[in-house]
Amino acid sequence: MTSASTNDIEFRSVAKRYGSVTAVSDINLAVPQGAFVALLGPSGCGKTTCLRMIGGFEQPSEGMVYIGGQPMNGVPAYRRPVNMVFQQYALFPHLDVEQNVAYGLKQMRPRAATAEIVRRTQEALEMVRLGGFGKRRIHEMSGGQQQRVALARAIVNKPKVLLLDEPLAALDKKLRTAMQIELQSLQRELGITFLLVTHDQEEALSMSDLVCVMSTGHVVQMGPPQEIYDRPASLFVADFVGKTNRIAATIEPGAGSVRLANGVGLSKPARANGTGGAAMVAVRPEAISLVRNGTATLQGTVTHRIFLGSTVEYSVEVEGLGDFLVTADRRNESELAEPGERIGLNFDPNAMHVFPA
Ligand code: ATP
Repeated sequence: MTSASTNDIEFRSVAKRYGSVTAVSDINLAVPQGAFVALLGPSGCGKTTCLRMIGGFEQPSEGMVYIGGQPMNGVPAYRRPVNMVFQQYALFPHLDVEQNVAYGLKQMRPRAATAEIVRRTQEALEMVRLGGFGKRRIHEMSGGQQQRVALARAIVNKPKVLLLDEPLAALDKKLRTAMQIELQSLQRELGITFLLVTHDQEEALSMSDLVCVMSTGHVVQMGPPQEIYDRPASLFVADFVGKTNRIAATIEPGAGSVRLANGVGLSKPARANGTGGAAMVAVRPEAISLVRNGTATLQGTVTHRIFLGSTVEYSVEVEGLGDFLVTADRRNESELAEPGERIGLNFDPNAMHVFPA
């Protein structure tokens, strides 16, 4: 059976076990053709295992993997229309840049004409902005340049899908940010599907069209970055993607309200899951406003203030509920508070989420 959709990659009820260890289970995933998708999750959640099953380095224990609508179970890695870029680049140190990039083309059977190999190698090097570097040895290239060589090598034979396993992890922060922008442009230019594994939520949110959040071998939410951030499907997603304040509460059945652990009642926020019982209210630090004079839902004491340039982060202790993290715009005078100051907290009801505890 083939997949009739325009999905480039599809997982249907996929599980992978290593002896008694279940790396992933019941994974259903559809990656649209030409999308930039990030697999995001904490260490050990199964991201790399998923990538390796697409690349053909592992076979699923259960379920089916499709690429371009074709079932891939049992198809060896070299017969799949995908390439992979590894965290450690895996370049050949004894070959120069050009030879590294051309390597895959030279292995293909039937072998392309030499002029064609040269042309495509140069084209791939130009695409990663390494036009004049073909004759350099690998050890003469910086970390960022080696990363580009690895990319050029992976795109030279025009795969349908490019798999990237934490490709920027070895770079320093500044270079990483620059490469994030370049990877995004490269993907747009090539128009091929990119699947990126990362445990860095900022990287996932800033680069991809779709974020697939994983936890303990499962996909827990997949959607555009803004949707993941604004409408997390669970407390896990709210915590893992961005910062979140959690407030213990009770949903009062039928009453349309939520009672916080300190007794304060709130009218039930728009995004309330669960109908009654113990709950957890999740609210982003930027969805809380500080009130110096006037009525507020909660009162607290500012314990810490951290300047972060354009924003200020406050820690506010509320009796009976603990510490709240609040992010304020530095230009907003009314929100600037001093440590030790008593202050009110108000919540944006549209930005609050209630999850059953
Ligand atoms: P990281 O971000 O640390 O690379 P990950 O999300 O990519 O983590 P995986 O490498 O896919 O996670 O591993 C998922 C689970 O499967 C882990 O518990 C891991 O220990 C286990 N696992 C992975 N490969 C093997 C293997 N070859 N043999 C046994 N267990 C494995």
